Amino acid sequence: MIEGFRIIDAHCHPIAEPDVSIINAYGTPDNTKDFFTEMRNAGLDFCCGSVIKPDREPKDFSSFARTNAAGYRIEREYPDFYQTGIRINPLFVKDSLAELEKYHKLGVTWVGELVPYSSGYSSYSSPEILEIFSVVRDLGMTVSVHSPDEEDIAKLMENLPGLNVVAAHPGEKPRVMLRVELMKRFPGLYWDLSGTGLFRWGMLKYMVDQCGPEKILFGTDFPICNIAMQIYGVLSEHISDEARVAIFSGNFERLCGRKKQG
Ligand SMILES: [Zn+2]
Repeated sequence: MIEGFRIIDAHCHPIAEPDVSIINAYGTPDNTKDFFTEMRNAGLDFCCGSVIKPDREPKDFSSFARTNAAGYRIEREYPDFYQTGIRINPLFVKDSLAELEKYHKLGVTWVGELVPYSSGYSSYSSPEILEIFSVVRDLGMTVSVHSPDEEDIAKLMENLPGLNVVAAHPGEKPRVMLRVELMKRFPGLYWDLSGTGLFRWGMLKYMVDQCGPEKILFGTDFPICNIAMQIYGVLSEHISDEARVAIFSGNFERLCGRKKQG
């Protein structure tokens, strides 16, 4: 824990068994236990995200079903620390809808992070994915998506008002400028701080000044990126403590569809 703040990571990817998922550029952590040890040691209090194994040319839904099952298993094992996000795939609409129904009944409220480029599709606004996302919305779930193309995400938000979308990775300044405008335009659009962006000094203050702190969620993308760099990125920028509380935990707790954790 970090004194004064409860810190929730809205964007991480737990490590399951080696044959189900390993995403660690330099080799560690390579198991579930070490994954959570690193999370706790870095000062996090809770986390959320999907188990991922890239499947760039999927023949069927099986690899997605397998990682979803692993995520749910890990959630049961670490209920005080982790909430899973399941993945859907617009190449397999029927399977995806069944998956949503199944896990929603089990209490899952988060979808994603979805990572199209490693899952065989590219759009967040195709008729197939809109059909799936309309059910996500109707079930009151929130969807986390890998950094979208601005035009594509605008199409999604125009088509499905009422859907809560947390987009990932603010990016470099030209993209941040566009994304801030999108967040002002669409009440259901949020951004998480994982990946490229927060290491540019002043980026977070700009986002907070432009959109308000209620639009920004803390995230790390661990074990792809460094947790502590993200935490201190938020602690060190010139924003208010109220803004930090919203970013570190308040906004996630409002969007996660569950009672306050821990
Ligand atoms: Zn990610």
